[in-house]
Amino acid sequence: LAITPDRHVDSVCPYCGVGCQLTFNIKDEKIVAVSGRQGPANKSRLCVKGRYGFDYVANPERLTTPLIRRDDVAKSDSLPFDASNPLTHFREASWEEALDLAAGKLNHVRDTYGPSAMSGFGSAKGSNEEAYLVQKLVRTGFKTNNVDHCTRLCHASSVAALLENIGSGAVTASFSECRNSDAIIVIGSNPTVNHPVAATFIKNAAQKGAKLYVMDPRGQALDRYAEESLNFVPGTDVALLNGLIHVIIDEGLYDSDYVKNQTEGFEDLKARTASSTPEAMSAICGIAPDTIRDVARGYANAKAAMIFWGMGISQHTHGTDNSRCLISLALLTGNVGKPGAGLHPLRGQNNVQGASDAGLIPMFFPDYKPVGDPEIRAKYENLWNAKLDPEKGLTVVEITDAAYNGDIKAMYVMGENPAMSDPDQAHARAALANLDILVVQDIFMTETAAFADVILPASAFPEKNGTFTNTDRRVQMGRQAIDPPGDARQDWWIIQELANRMGLSWSYTHARDIFGEMRMVMPSLTGITWDRLLKEDAVTYPCADENSEGKDVIFGDGFPTASGRGRMTPADVLPPDEMPDAEFPLVMSTGRLLEHWHTGSMTRRATVLDALEPEPEVHVSPSDLQSLQVSAGDLIRVVTRRGEIALAARVDPKLPAGMIFVPFCFNEAPANMLTNPALDPYGKIPELKFSAARLETV
Ligand code: SF4
Repeated sequence: LAITPDRHVDSVCPYCGVGCQLTFNIKDEKIVAVSGRQGPANKSRLCVKGRYGFDYVANPERLTTPLIRRDDVAKSDSLPFDASNPLTHFREASWEEALDLAAGKLNHVRDTYGPSAMSGFGSAKGSNEEAYLVQKLVRTGFKTNNVDHCTRLCHASSVAALLENIGSGAVTASFSECRNSDAIIVIGSNPTVNHPVAATFIKNAAQKGAKLYVMDPRGQALDRYAEESLNFVPGTDVALLNGLIHVIIDEGLYDSDYVKNQTEGFEDLKARTASSTPEAMSAICGIAPDTIRDVARGYANAKAAMIFWGMGISQHTHGTDNSRCLISLALLTGNVGKPGAGLHPLRGQNNVQGASDAGLIPMFFPDYKPVGDPEIRAKYENLWNAKLDPEKGLTVVEITDAAYNGDIKAMYVMGENPAMSDPDQAHARAALANLDILVVQDIFMTETAAFADVILPASAFPEKNGTFTNTDRRVQMGRQAIDPPGDARQDWWIIQELANRMGLSWSYTHARDIFGEMRMVMPSLTGITWDRLLKEDAVTYPCADENSEGKDVIFGDGFPTASGRGRMTPADVLPPDEMPDAEFPLVMSTGRLLEHWHTGSMTRRATVLDALEPEPEVHVSPSDLQSLQVSAGDLIRVVTRRGEIALAARVDPKLPAGMIFVPFCFNEAPANMLTNPALDPYGKIPELKFSAARLETV
């Protein structure tokens, strides 16, 4: 390092679900560098975000004092969002005034319109303890289950399929297990961009001889290591996967002992995929029949095989069906519960697994205990000393719709940015402007905070202690490295102050107290104590006791389902919600860039990262660019049925003709102004990966 740090604090990366362990190097109370540690998930490796994405914490735009909307500025004045001016809509306030106002207005809406008018969003960027407190506040203070977080836009459909078929929404094996695999499928995921350190383990496994099958409508960097790269037609995942299932059953490649002893639903799956011949499925998904056969044989004949998937599978109206097919592939071939085998939906945020485990979802209490079960509810009523709502709550997009319609009138948002991340953004922003009371707790004036009545300045990741659960089910300790700026406060403190002003009586003194309460109700945390995490940094669940190491690979001895077996649920080929037509002939997909994180509120304020990717660009295939008669760098317009944005064109030879890609981190040209809010019926996830679109010259 050019600067000699005067102290070092070991922690975890604040970005993706890989959960790389790192060290903050600090000089004069400022983070001056980040270095990778020998964590179990990263073995000292870090990607560009982990290494260079930290100076957002010292950005002068940090919120340092509570803010209250000025009486003479209506929320509709924030439409459309003007990034240059939102602070002028607010005045500074003391913590007492801001918290009293927020709690008073929230209480007023609850008591006037009833609990069904209340809602809350927590964040997968927050710690386990913060997620637990947000859901507890909404359930006991707001008195509703209308609580959710960005898992609804991420892997909700994967979790729905996993819970349905193997009784658990978490991964069955850590990603580094791929070192023991003979075959690896990566589908609907671009790990080199979205989970870069996990991608290095996949590459290493392929270099050592594992057969890698990459399935993605777009080409990607992992193709270089692949036995086969299948650039199938967007939105035809079920056709491709049913083709693979058909071959495995038809050629008798399945593990008949495993199927007989450990699964159910085989005969139904066989019957429902009987007509899914490679030839029939090829006509839909665009992959040659012989390639479908080769891949099916390569996967089924492997001694151990893993499947990795991402948002390309989950963010569809048939996202749950896509995941059901992947689960069937693994169960048919016995590729669960042994070294080198497993199902691994690569989690997005660094704590999306932990936030869901902690109950930050509308249908489950912590550890996926159904809110509708009277016995379970009684247990939580006793622990939390409150009467609880027996009905499942609304999910993210349903809450936004209810706010738009006026049925939801109050919203508390901690660390999320629905004004950027929700589909059909004009609708989402109008919904936020329609609320009687919006309380936002965040570190920056986000696009969502611009619609708030009260803004509470929070702490950034390196400014707090807390536990975080990575994509592998690994609970890790994040440690406070520096103090929050100005009068910004710890998130758990803010939630508690709000709760107590709403009539609750909480007395936590540290994140450790909250973790202790979570252990009382979450069997997944048996064996994982705060002190143990301080000493060991990371422990994987399930972990039977404090001396147990935890399990990387699970379900070798059956599944946590009623029958103890895994279920194979067939899926039919269905079209996306909105097919291209003469008016909108292209397929638009959205997603992340390597350098930027989600809605960009952190990484666009990280100097190195923003310098690497400073401007919004739409990625277009060379032939589509040529048809439009424009060049790379020219300003063009992307139009869908929801709206339009103008941004520069980037030529992307890895895209097939007829498909475009728009990153969703740029508020100057927000991709979600264009996306389709149609939902998967099971996971309630919107179809962010498929909208009919057209390009126009500007
Ligand atoms: Fe952070 Fe993920 Fe990069 Fe690791 S791979 S450094 S967790 S963003």
